[in-house]
Amino acid sequence: MDFSEYGLTEEHEMIRDTVRRFATEEVEKGAVERDEAMEFPKDLVEQMAEMSLLGIPVSEELGGAGMDTMSYAIAVEEIARVDGSLALTLAAHVSLGTAPIFEYGSEEQKKKYVPHLAAGEYLGGFGLTEPNAGSDAAGTQTVAKKDGDDWIVNGSKIYCTNASHCGVFIITAVTTPGIGTKGISAFLVEPDWKGFVFGKKENKLGCRSSDTRELAFEDMRVPASAMIGKEGEGFKLFMKTLDGGRISIGAMAVGIAQGAIDKAVPYSLERHSFGQPLAHFQAIGDKIADMEMETHAARLMVYHAARLKDEGRRITKSSAMAKLFASEAAMRATDSAIQILGGYGYSREYHVERYYRDAKITTIGEGTSEIQRLVIARELLKEYS
Ligand SMILES: Cc1cc2nc3c(=O)[nH]c(=O)nc-3n(C[C@H](O)[C@H](O)[C@H](O)COP(=O)(O)OP(=O)(O)OC[C@H]3O[C@@H](n4cnc5c(N)ncnc54)[C@H](O)[C@@H]3O)c2cc1C
Repeated sequence: MDFSEYGLTEEHEMIRDTVRRFATEEVEKGAVERDEAMEFPKDLVEQMAEMSLLGIPVSEELGGAGMDTMSYAIAVEEIARVDGSLALTLAAHVSLGTAPIFEYGSEEQKKKYVPHLAAGEYLGGFGLTEPNAGSDAAGTQTVAKKDGDDWIVNGSKIYCTNASHCGVFIITAVTTPGIGTKGISAFLVEPDWKGFVFGKKENKLGCRSSDTRELAFEDMRVPASAMIGKEGEGFKLFMKTLDGGRISIGAMAVGIAQGAIDKAVPYSLERHSFGQPLAHFQAIGDKIADMEMETHAARLMVYHAARLKDEGRRITKSSAMAKLFASEAAMRATDSAIQILGGYGYSREYHVERYYRDAKITTIGEGTSEIQRLVIARELLKEYS
């Protein structure tokens, strides 16, 4: 695979080489067993911390690697190429758990949390989704009521990635009921605060060695200093965070699609049927061509959105398009990989069924495909009106 055509810098090539080596030498070997056992790989997360991957886009003065969004996207892509679970762990920590504090936190909040997050002393969590508020995140039912200078928070969150390993969570809560999204504020909360309760761990279709868990808040006292951004601006802050996060979910999808190609193409050359390699049948060649073309297009879209973010441009539409296209391309590519391997593809032994299962979350997490289409259409209509 020749990446020079993507116009990347030497630094980007270096990041790709380093992360690829880590992925193939360290991550790939136990991926099947971890997936089967739903085992969170603490040792690999520690190694990612040592490699400064957990703070890639964080400034050096706050303990990060000071690299750009493109480097981060490449790192997620290369890890997803062998293990979607670990890529999701990294993407959720960086884009959802760390970025909102690094990008929107007060100086005090940044100093308190970001160096620890970047060093991987603990992970960061993002609590937006609730039992009755997923795509319609404005319907949040978690409430924060003023009590002197503090807030008393009650409610729950579901599907929180990395939750068991987080030292800080950014959550939404309604601070002024009845006025919609402008009544929602964001808070930084810690798991050892009184009233913070961990709920059940999810048993999932894919990305099974990533940690996903419920949270509940029972009269949790939160100091005023834990509000991030201004009162009533929490929803906006969460939506902006998701704009950035969608680039990394797109990168994860590209990596999974590439991993499927890496497995399917050599197999199609080695496996013989009717006296010739599978690859020589036009029907198989067509599948391979589509996998390659769509993965290439998805990569271009993800890199384009990453470049726009690095230039400080508005990325709402580009990141939604990149995530939507890449995730659906990953579903098609992993489906084709199973088809090319036939029965072996369906068997757990040959890994490609894991790629198929891991790809599915990229069409759901950080906004479903339907919601991406809604976002893209809304942005486009704004341009025309
Ligand atoms: C493994 C995993 C990890 C996750 N990690 C996190 C995390 O760290 N933090 C977090 O806050 N959340 C997380 N999520 C939650 C995820 O973001 C939500 O599942 C997702 O946004 C969809 O919400 P929902 O599940 O409530 O589905 P719903 O909103 O109930 O949607 C169900 C279906 O209806 C469709 N639908 C809903 N509204 C519309 C509409 N207006 N138009 C068209 N179709 C619509 C949806 O597209 C979907 O197909 C995670 C989820 C999973 C599975």
